[in-house]
Amino acid sequence: MSLPLEKALVASHPLSDIASKVVDGERLCFDDAIRLYQSADLVTIAALGCQARRRKAGPDKEKWVYYIHNMHLNPTNLCIENCRFCSYASPTEKNKGYTLPLDKVLEEAAAGAALGINEIHMVGGLNPACDLKYYEVAFRAIKERFRHIHLKSMTAVEIDYLSRLEGISYSQTLERLIAAGLDSMPGGGAEIFDESVREKMAVKKTPASVYLEIHGIAHNLGIKSNATMLTGIGESIEHKVDHMLRLREQQDRTGGFLCFIPLKCYYEGTDIKDEVQEPTGYDLLKDVAISRMVLDNFDHIKAYWIQLGEKLAQIALSFGADDMDGTIGQEKITHAAGADTPLKLAKESMEYLIASAGYIPVERDTVYNVRRIAGDKPCASGTPCACAQSSASV
Ligand code: SF4
Repeated sequence: MSLPLEKALVASHPLSDIASKVVDGERLCFDDAIRLYQSADLVTIAALGCQARRRKAGPDKEKWVYYIHNMHLNPTNLCIENCRFCSYASPTEKNKGYTLPLDKVLEEAAAGAALGINEIHMVGGLNPACDLKYYEVAFRAIKERFRHIHLKSMTAVEIDYLSRLEGISYSQTLERLIAAGLDSMPGGGAEIFDESVREKMAVKKTPASVYLEIHGIAHNLGIKSNATMLTGIGESIEHKVDHMLRLREQQDRTGGFLCFIPLKCYYEGTDIKDEVQEPTGYDLLKDVAISRMVLDNFDHIKAYWIQLGEKLAQIALSFGADDMDGTIGQEKITHAAGADTPLKLAKESMEYLIASAGYIPVERDTVYNVRRIAGDKPCASGTPCACAQSSASV
């Protein structure tokens, strides 16, 4: 047990009751999480986040940190919505708007495949030109050529939009996309669930109840998904805890979330900077640690390096995160909003970041089957290594 954790367990410590719950694996309540956010004791919060992560991972994997060799593919940035925090979407083609034709989608996928990626993360704006047929054709074409690549695509917001465009149910939309090759869903589009924040940010898309319903339907159809939370858009700590608890309830119901990803807003190209509080490094590390403690039914918490930056993402590993996301290839969404992180990281750089923070780099696939543990021999492309067969799907 670490020294800060031992100290936190002493009865006189202001967080001792929460520390005991974390050590015993007892579920934290709303008030517990608020007290953690109100505490300035970052060392204790880090120790508690790590303890929660240790319990979740088990003794064999407590030092494992996952990453994936993947690429992002954004078929369009044209969007009918106008969320105030978004710098990615473009209302018109004149204003740098684009829609990739099928051959260009395939060209980008082929470039990723040539680099040996095993996941395509594909999300885009809500664009009537990219209807359900567009995605069915694109998914089928990608899968025909690159069967081994996992297709993680379609936020709940996109599913909601395509369903309304087509006049069919969420379930029917998902079934058609799964038949075309959809393997899992990313977590984007959750933002902050609280309606008052969404109203101020002109978020008219997919409300919380629909976001959660669509993920639940996907889980029941047999596909996994991720969940996100966007901070720096005028939310309070109460809104953040409420957001996490709604996700925890959904996970209790359908159990298909793989990972929780705290995100921060970048402001370039938006007009909101003067009316919101930009999250500090302190806030972002607390989001990681507290989400690790509160989301006791999520297996993984991600330190998304493209947003946190490589250095803060490394530190987040000692606050309870166990995943650094991917090598990415080329990121457009956060960089459109002013992120100055690199556009991509080589596998070697990713492994160096993890190892130099004191953890063991583990290359995974989208659903957390292990492909390679650093130090082991590389696996044949497309198949998990033998050591992974027994420890798959952590
Ligand atoms: S956040 Fe999504 S829905 Fe909102 S404007 Fe940007 S791309 Fe469109």
